[in-house]
Amino acid sequence: YGLLLRRDPEMAEVLLGELERLRGGLQLIASENLASPAVLAALGSTLTNKYAEGYPGRRYYGGCEVVDRAEGLAIDRARRLFGADHVNVQPHSGSSANLAAYAALLQPGDGVLAMALPHGGHLTHGSKVNFSGRWFDVTEYGVRRDTELIDYDEVRELALRHRPKVIICGATAYPRKIDFAAFRGIADEAGAWLLADVAHTVGLMAGGALPSAVPYADVVTFTTHKALRGPRGGGIMCTAELAARIDRAVFPFTQGGPLMHAVAAKAVAFGEALRPEFADYARRVVENAQVLAEGLAAEGMRPVSGGTDSHLALIDLRGFAASGAVAEQRCADAGITLNRNAIPYDPEPPTVTSGIRLGTPCATTQGMGTEEMKEVASLVAEAVRSPDSAGEVRARVRELTSAYPAYPSEL
Ligand code: PLP
Repeated sequence: YGLLLRRDPEMAEVLLGELERLRGGLQLIASENLASPAVLAALGSTLTNKYAEGYPGRRYYGGCEVVDRAEGLAIDRARRLFGADHVNVQPHSGSSANLAAYAALLQPGDGVLAMALPHGGHLTHGSKVNFSGRWFDVTEYGVRRDTELIDYDEVRELALRHRPKVIICGATAYPRKIDFAAFRGIADEAGAWLLADVAHTVGLMAGGALPSAVPYADVVTFTTHKALRGPRGGGIMCTAELAARIDRAVFPFTQGGPLMHAVAAKAVAFGEALRPEFADYARRVVENAQVLAEGLAAEGMRPVSGGTDSHLALIDLRGFAASGAVAEQRCADAGITLNRNAIPYDPEPPTVTSGIRLGTPCATTQGMGTEEMKEVASLVAEAVRSPDSAGEVRARVRELTSAYPAYPSEL
């Protein structure tokens, strides 16, 4: 930050403030991670200058021979990482990836079957406040009340009754493995395309800690900034049959010039994920989430569905005398960043909720393991239970984060 400190001290102070925030507190937001300094270097590069509408070798601007190499590397590495026929690395975000995937497969008014937002689905899976809910005829499935697991019988029944053109699987707050083979079978029976939105779990898929959706889905959308630990951004994988449709749906249908600095940073992240250490990281992310969920359960905070197979735990706070919103604030006061989250069949409105969502990608990147997760569970429970002890909890958080700092070397 040396140059920025001299040129724009006001903004340098903001960036240093964020670094201090990351270093000083516990980061438990399930959709966040700490991108490596190499990823950050690519993001802060001259590639941000370049217009490169089109695709490698077929651009609408001159001077693209260098950025073509960046995008080529990103595509090759992603294809190797996931074994996909085709990858588009240009979507600016997970939402942009979904917009393009819908554009490739659907016309306005077409039917979609997707997981309901309050059961763990995403805004872009048909919420009324999002383009997906306004432009498509969305039917929602959810989880069973007793098991809190996806009700595959209900999915099948709805698919056969409504005959949607696209079935979406993948979620934002669902802690369990998704049975992609079952979704494939239902999609085939109903004559629908299968779209897997693995925004949250693509990093775990890359590291082999969760089964891959690629062999089953026609289209797979993802983000690069969550467990995958890359830059903020999105991507789409698909079968060879759909490649041209997906590419045209990204550019020129829904986007203009790609963010070539972000594409380069995605290539760096895919390269990091191809290394054997990343498989170990993905395995530890899940192990940490399981120990964290167990620790919270022992404190009386009930994990939805009884636990987790992934990087996140969704906690039901009913019976703990705090709403999700109150718990989020109490944790923030104690230096713990997490988010309130609706739980299935939540009686509270989305601004309040009865739950919190906690994830382990950041803590695992910082080097924390299962012993530290037991301490984290105790810290979260204490922060939510006793707001008066926020100062003491904060001191214990600092002890932990100084032993496992975010970005230990200078940026
Ligand atoms: N899809 C799912 C399942 C997500 O969880 C998210 C983000 O959390 C997205 C899409 C959207 O990603 P973005 O925030 O990059 O638009």
